[in-house]
Amino acid sequence: MPFDPLENLRDHYDVVVIGGGLGGMTAANALARAGRSVLLAEQHFKLGGLATWFRRRGGHVFDVALHGFPVGMIKSCRRYWSREIADSIVQLKDIRFDNPMFSLSTTFDRQDFTRLLIERFQVPAASVDAFFDAARNMNFYDDQSFTAGQLFEKFFPGRADIVRLLMEPITYANGSTLEDPALTYGIVFSNFMSKGVYTFQGGTDQLIKLMGRELQKSGVDVRTRCSVEKVHVDRGRVRAVTLGGKQVETKAAVSNANLLGTIFHLVGREYWDCQFVEQAEAVRLNNSSTQVYMGLKPGMLIDESQCGDLLFSSTAPEFRTGLLLSRNITSRTFSFYYPKTRPGFDRCAVVASTNANYDDWNKLPKREYEAAKQHLIEDTLNSLERYVPDIRERLDFVEAATPLTFERYTKHLGGSSFGTKFEGLAVSRAMPEQIGGLYHAGSVGIIMSGWLGAVNYGVIVANDVDAYLMKS
Ligand SMILES: Cc1cc2nc3c(=O)[nH]c(=O)nc-3n(C[C@H](O)[C@H](O)[C@H](O)COP(=O)(O)OP(=O)(O)OC[C@H]3O[C@@H](n4cnc5c(N)ncnc54)[C@H](O)[C@@H]3O)c2cc1C
Repeated sequence: MPFDPLENLRDHYDVVVIGGGLGGMTAANALARAGRSVLLAEQHFKLGGLATWFRRRGGHVFDVALHGFPVGMIKSCRRYWSREIADSIVQLKDIRFDNPMFSLSTTFDRQDFTRLLIERFQVPAASVDAFFDAARNMNFYDDQSFTAGQLFEKFFPGRADIVRLLMEPITYANGSTLEDPALTYGIVFSNFMSKGVYTFQGGTDQLIKLMGRELQKSGVDVRTRCSVEKVHVDRGRVRAVTLGGKQVETKAAVSNANLLGTIFHLVGREYWDCQFVEQAEAVRLNNSSTQVYMGLKPGMLIDESQCGDLLFSSTAPEFRTGLLLSRNITSRTFSFYYPKTRPGFDRCAVVASTNANYDDWNKLPKREYEAAKQHLIEDTLNSLERYVPDIRERLDFVEAATPLTFERYTKHLGGSSFGTKFEGLAVSRAMPEQIGGLYHAGSVGIIMSGWLGAVNYGVIVANDVDAYLMKS
């Protein structure tokens, strides 16, 4: 019998969650625990969305988006998932920077950054404290015209080296730039600075397996290989969704899919008022990424003291957002996965990530695209040779992903890695005011992206949906 993803699907659910990324799964789990009947429909054959992994011949396992998240993930996972998940979150203690301005190693927390800024960068202690306090006190209602660039100029005037130390990792973490509102920087930076950078021991495969089990325990009807094609709206309210050609009735839908894809493709522009459409059309997608996945031969281990856990490597003379996005790559983040990532597994892997423009890859004819991927691999290996000189001899497997890869597997418009720019958050939050019962819980607005942002947004939206269902 062929596999039927719609087998035994009910005709009605209280809520349909569209997409099984971290935000979608968390919203589904919270709603089911609150007693709602929930269908979670994921178009891919596995859950996780961008929080994913893949296996390749020779027993290699690669994590796509497990490079580091703030400590807040422990609390969110304990509250909204399980103790087992929360207890597997461990700190990455050796974060490195290597660029023409400085080379250093840090635990990436406030205490160590304070030490570095005072001792190494010769900044008065009072200025450092004032900067940290300003960043920590930022919130969503702050002046949005004050940019991250202006924030740095206020506290560290003319210090391009400090801007690089403070900004480069956050640009990788959420795609924010010097031109974005300072609060998109301040909130995420302060989250990391509270206690450093964390990872999930066991790998993304283990995390998603545990989350899948929790969903089952909570009673969520989870369907993979199940693309939602349409959200049906009747008299300003959600009435049903269509998936795999079948209509399922529901009073509420939570889309974890791309914000603009939800508004214009899943719903359709005719269901929103003109002003909202204008506002949505003005939302800019965030950038995409490239990655190179390198699997080492069994038993060929990299010495942890040689490279650290996470290495921000750049040959660019100074930090500029445009340079980070260019196909002429000068800056990369290397994530080193030692056997401790997956205890009992004797492999090392390295994943190199860069930010990238979708159009730089989308417009290439097939042959040039393949050649550009090969070039990306060679260039990455050349760069990694500076830290692991015999990497080519140790290598067993290598593969590259581009913005088109991210688009293909997650359906994110423009292969966006972090959803939308800041203005997307207001549009995402305003959806239920336009269409009763329609919510969005996906990467958006720079703040509500990344693993922690996505999980927390899922919780916030689940509470909204529960309140809506209570009233209706
Ligand atoms: C290369 C890379 C590295 C990253 N590194 C980090 C990191 O180190 N730390 C960190 O915190 N964050 C990182 N991120 C970002 C982080 O992974 C994402 O912000 C987060 O996982 C997004 O979660 P989400 O809930 O928005 O859903 P997404 O992961 O965007 O998932 C959306 C889901 O919806 C599904 N879907 C879409 N359309 C439909 C449809 N019509 N029907 C059914 N299903 C649909 C998709 O298949 C997908 O599973 C990284 C991202 C990338 C790309």
